[in-house]
Amino acid sequence: MKIAIIGGGISGLTLAWYLQKAGVAYDLFEADAQPGGNLRTWAAPGGYMLETGPNSLQLSPELADLLADLGLTDQIEDAAAVSQHRYVLRDGRYQALPGSPPALLASGFFSLKTKWQLLREVLRPAAAPDATETVAQFFRRRFGPEIVDYAVNPFISGIYAGDPEQLLIHKTFRQLPALEQAHGSVLRGLLKTSKGTARRRIVTLAGGVQRLADTLAERLSNYQQGTAVSALSRAADGSYQLELRGARGLEAAPGYSHLALALPAYAAAPLLEPLFPAAAAALAAIHYPPMSVVYSAYDRAAVAHPLNGFGALHPKVENAFAAGAIWTSSIFPQRVPAGQVLFTSFVGGTQYEAAAQQPEAAQLAAVHAELAQHYGIVGAPRWQGRYYWPRSIPQFDAAIVGAHAAAETLAAEGILAVANWRAGVSVPDCIRFARDTAETLR
Ligand SMILES: Cc1cc2nc3c(=O)[nH]c(=O)nc-3n(C[C@H](O)[C@H](O)[C@H](O)COP(=O)(O)OP(=O)(O)OC[C@H]3O[C@@H](n4cnc5c(N)ncnc54)[C@H](O)[C@@H]3O)c2cc1C
Repeated sequence: MKIAIIGGGISGLTLAWYLQKAGVAYDLFEADAQPGGNLRTWAAPGGYMLETGPNSLQLSPELADLLADLGLTDQIEDAAAVSQHRYVLRDGRYQALPGSPPALLASGFFSLKTKWQLLREVLRPAAAPDATETVAQFFRRRFGPEIVDYAVNPFISGIYAGDPEQLLIHKTFRQLPALEQAHGSVLRGLLKTSKGTARRRIVTLAGGVQRLADTLAERLSNYQQGTAVSALSRAADGSYQLELRGARGLEAAPGYSHLALALPAYAAAPLLEPLFPAAAAALAAIHYPPMSVVYSAYDRAAVAHPLNGFGALHPKVENAFAAGAIWTSSIFPQRVPAGQVLFTSFVGGTQYEAAAQQPEAAQLAAVHAELAQHYGIVGAPRWQGRYYWPRSIPQFDAAIVGAHAAAETLAAEGILAVANWRAGVSVPDCIRFARDTAETLR
């Protein structure tokens, strides 16, 4: 058995790491000149250490194990305690989003009607399972429209760059309909199952999240960067042959019993097309909306808002320009020079596609204007910068169903999908899925 891993993002790197530990032969090919894919730390001019992709990670057991394995546990940096507070734009101003159902009942964030609907969720009968139900339909049915508009909508655009009217509940939060089915009510299910489960730590690494990718790549014996897989073919014995495009021109790498697709679905589709056209079409249908990440730094004294939280999200009904901003200097103060604050704004995702594609200068100006309005900022930014993702995060909407079915078909041919469009989009999801896949290949 020999496995070719195509793509050296966190999924491919983790898969390679656990295969190497288990003594399974592999080669990992990464097109880019650096490992990590979406994990990309940017030392920007002016002394700012920024993330263009994931800014912070939930410390899942699998991530903690991987960091321990790599000797990185002492490099973990926790988010500041203040970042447990989250804000949402409501009626033109930022209001603290209650962090739990009891806090929600006590706060004035939601109307009395919505609080009453929330309480009555425990009595509402479970509906028959529906594989086509969207996240918005599910929450509207169980908790009412205000919860969708002011909690679910900003959360989905903040985490998934998505639209709750399109994402499927059983592909995005499969545990919630499962709780409804098992306990008759989501809240009753949560109360029964979440007793004693502590909130996960939100962390980064000293030097940024790219350190994780760099360390993995350093420890892998068969990692090749700057080498794109440009075509696939299959020999009479069923083994796979790769055409590689790198510094040495075109090369062939034959004799793989398995392939691991650890690359975006839109990059995997053209490789699969000649051998598996139907699967290729299903993968090509996954939507990756564009996303501009805009950084704005100010002198602390120029910003009136206390910035006592993780950040603030914008529900679509508030008609803002950006989907929201995280308060980088509040979460990880060491990333920004003393005496300054830095906002990382997200302009894009499915609900903000037109704004994501505007020219850079227009985006920077619009973000500054919006920040100035909501945070009471006087004067111009000290510095602004932008990173553009033409195709950011795969959407788990109706198209993902066909892609996941295609992944099953491919698995029967020895081709394993091990990337965020299969695993789930968070870095811990990718790590867990890659580690589980390595287990099946031992
Ligand atoms: C703006 C943004 C913010 C995010 N924020 C968070 C966050 O805060 N927390 C969190 O947990 N997650 C976050 N995510 C999600 C998370 O970063 C990704 O889901 C995850 O990193 C994807 O990893 P991957 O290895 O599956 O794919 P990728 O990172 O896409 O890696 C795929 C790799 O394949 C390579 N490749 C492509 N084509 C070829 C080819 N033909 N041959 C060889 N190699 C090829 C690419 O160069 C790339 O390195 C964010 C993502 C984005 C875009």
